[in-house]
Amino acid sequence: MAKRVYLFSEGSKDDRDLLGGKGANLCEMTALKLPVPFGFVITTPTCREYFENGNKLPTLLEQEYRVALDLVEKQMGTRFGDPENPLLFSVRSGAPISMPGMMNTILNLGINDEIAEGLSRKTGNPRFAYDCYRRFIQMFADVVLGADTHAMETVIEDYKERKAYETDVAMEAEDWQAVISTFKTMVKFPEDPFEQLRLAVEAVFQSWHTPRANVYREMNNIPDSLGTAVTVQSMVFGNFGEDSGSGVAFTRNPSTGERLFFGEVLFNAAGEDVVAGIRTPLPVDAMQERMPDAYKELLDSQALLESHYRDMQDIEFTVQEGRFYLLQTRSGKRTGRASVRIAVDMVREGMINEKEALLRVSPEHVQSFLHPMVDPDAERAVIASGLPASPGGATGVAVFSADEAVNVEADGNKVILIRRETTPEDIHGMRVAEGILTELGGMTSHAAVVARGMGVCAITGCGELRVSVHEGTATAADGTVIKRGDTVTLDGATGDVMLGDIPKVEASTSDDFQTLLSWADKHRRLKVRANAETPEDAAKARELGAEGIGLCRTEHMFFASDRIDHMRAMILSTDRKERKRHLAKLQEFQHADMLELYRVMDGLPVTIRLLDPPLHEFLPHDEDDANALAERLGKDPQEIHQARNDLAEVNPMLGFRGCRLSVVYPEITRMQVRAIIGAALQAREEGLNPFPEIMIPLVVNVREIRLISEVIDRGIAKVTKEKSVSLRYKIGTMMETPRACLGADRLASAVEFMSFGTNDLTQMTYGFSRDDAGRFIPQYLDAKIIEDDPFVSLDQRAVGRLMRMAVQESRQAKKGIKYGICGEHGGDPRSIRFCHDLGLDYVSCSPYRVPVARIAAAQARVLADIDN
Ligand code: ADP
Ligand code: MG
Ligand code: MG
Repeated sequence: MAKRVYLFSEGSKDDRDLLGGKGANLCEMTALKLPVPFGFVITTPTCREYFENGNKLPTLLEQEYRVALDLVEKQMGTRFGDPENPLLFSVRSGAPISMPGMMNTILNLGINDEIAEGLSRKTGNPRFAYDCYRRFIQMFADVVLGADTHAMETVIEDYKERKAYETDVAMEAEDWQAVISTFKTMVKFPEDPFEQLRLAVEAVFQSWHTPRANVYREMNNIPDSLGTAVTVQSMVFGNFGEDSGSGVAFTRNPSTGERLFFGEVLFNAAGEDVVAGIRTPLPVDAMQERMPDAYKELLDSQALLESHYRDMQDIEFTVQEGRFYLLQTRSGKRTGRASVRIAVDMVREGMINEKEALLRVSPEHVQSFLHPMVDPDAERAVIASGLPASPGGATGVAVFSADEAVNVEADGNKVILIRRETTPEDIHGMRVAEGILTELGGMTSHAAVVARGMGVCAITGCGELRVSVHEGTATAADGTVIKRGDTVTLDGATGDVMLGDIPKVEASTSDDFQTLLSWADKHRRLKVRANAETPEDAAKARELGAEGIGLCRTEHMFFASDRIDHMRAMILSTDRKERKRHLAKLQEFQHADMLELYRVMDGLPVTIRLLDPPLHEFLPHDEDDANALAERLGKDPQEIHQARNDLAEVNPMLGFRGCRLSVVYPEITRMQVRAIIGAALQAREEGLNPFPEIMIPLVVNVREIRLISEVIDRGIAKVTKEKSVSLRYKIGTMMETPRACLGADRLASAVEFMSFGTNDLTQMTYGFSRDDAGRFIPQYLDAKIIEDDPFVSLDQRAVGRLMRMAVQESRQAKKGIKYGICGEHGGDPRSIRFCHDLGLDYVSCSPYRVPVARIAAAQARVLADIDN
């Protein structure tokens, strides 16, 4: 049987999978001779064993950890369950991938009436002993017994009110004893320390499946199968007195990335108080005066940890009677801005290389450079200010609970979630919020950490506001009230809270960001293009680094209000002459639009897809609009109704669309080609270098391509002869039907490029309608029938297999074909990795996604090189 229990002296940071991140790092710190309280770790496979056993601990487990426990007792010189000389434990969760605050921890375990009394005697600090005891009862009741802990909080609140105490610090030993006797009427917990330990280990395993942990894993794509380790560690006590305390620190600023040690501390408090955000902590340099030795040790340790791990660390520490202890280190969560700055700085400091720096930045974080900020020049009437916990500017409707946030957001509103503090139970509300505002808690509180991770704007510790969740109000010092439903704006960069909608400015990039992108460009192989139709979008895309347009959907140009009627008139035309007249008009529009695109994309390829949607999509959808159209066109309304009936389809997604239109109405294609090529020639005359790539959609058969290519070639020959110039252009096809992929070897002979339209390809491979799949995909995900929504992240197994086959077989048939992808997946980092491995030439995505794709493409290359 594999070893289930490891002492801290037996593991290292490379044992994350086995010991969880927390356990592995405690081992590593022990090896570095840093002051870590002794303890041991129960492995993650044990957790899986527990679940496979039908939620039973392996029979031998207790024997195994008792051996470790004996050794810890020897190291500590105290004994678990011994009232004369007690040893208390913390029982902590820790998964291979960090899930901060998502699972359970139980502190001060191994206590009961007799032991509390012994602890009080031994330490001569009864206030402390009974504070520990009541904390244990509360946590055990919450985590193991699943009791109503709000009622227990209320007992404490009521007691303090009766005594007119302001804070917990005023509570004396007798006070806690009184509270404890009330608690004991409310919950039953085992007196036997070993029984407590058994139940706690089990509870930590079970916390792997709490709803909040499940949601977190789903959001972060962490496999359910990993399981958690359990760390059992000797307690040290920050609540021992005024020369004790607990804190959290970051080796660099997690909001800005600035190379400045940054932390928060609470004196005479347990670590849980800092994380929970119950009291607002002090900046960590407050330690300098009160506990200079511990402060120096903290500074030395943080420097050592950062250079050892070669990354920004998030550290938890406790000081007991002036002695410093480290309880945790991990790579710190950080904002997008901070992650870029830290990565670039560390390359400059010689700590990491460019490739490592690229891997340090999450593609999602890149987007925070592209998010709006509150306009610094706009008038702002600030009603309160808090801590700038997570940047960005957000405006929305004030809501006061997570459920409300979900409901109001579902009605199509942006919401600002306002709470006294947040807990992991609020995660579903935080997830949909535009911004988060809390009255309590510091820069390292739950709200702050989670918001930064999600890239959501947040203000914490806004003590100038009194939040009443019950009333649905937040009252500022001057009496201004934010009521449920009011519009509020948060400035996550300054911490300002304002009523109303304050203007935002476009996100600005930084020099560091540009540096990192330039490294990405240096290391990636895939090119990145954008999906764009308008000159504005195209210009934005080019500014963000797009190397051409991978998909210009020409029909978008016809939906514009000044053109749609010409399109409709063309569709409704009864004789050829009338149709030609409207086509000529449409050609003018298309020509002008294309010219603009060539100007913006001078020198770069512009992939233009021929008309794709079924024609009925252009006709008015309701009666009134149809009648109004008849009047505008001087037609009989009956004619329009007739046309709508004639063109109606039972299944438009599989209907008369794509290249099928070109086959039946070659005149439409001729018009488009004249516009595309005519505009290119005009661009040439302007001294530009246009490069159109004409793309045929929804192909199933090489003869379709041949037929349409002929129309295109003849059109081009005619236009170029008129102008007697030559032009660089390509003809290619979308690969978006399974049949096209299966017959790619035949298609190869007729095309110069192939672009995978993975939206339709996914739809047709699965037989899931893109427009209706939303009704059942959530349930499919819940039931684990599918791991991911295939419309979000490319299904590599089946859709990917079709793509691979198409690439391999067409490549064998003909050299020199260019391959790209232009579905939504073109901007999805995991899909991009797949496209890299497949050997595609480019990905194409929405303009704002381009920087993400550049980074993701570089990461794909770096990771592929590591893998090979
Ligand atoms: P999380 O994974 O949610 O951060 P932890 O296991 O780190 O949970 O525990 C939460 C807090 O409990 C820690 O931040 C620390 O302050 C406190 N704690 C954990 N272990 C000990 C210990 N051995 N001694 C004192 N405090 C502890
Ligand atoms: Mg922790
Ligand atoms: Mg399509």
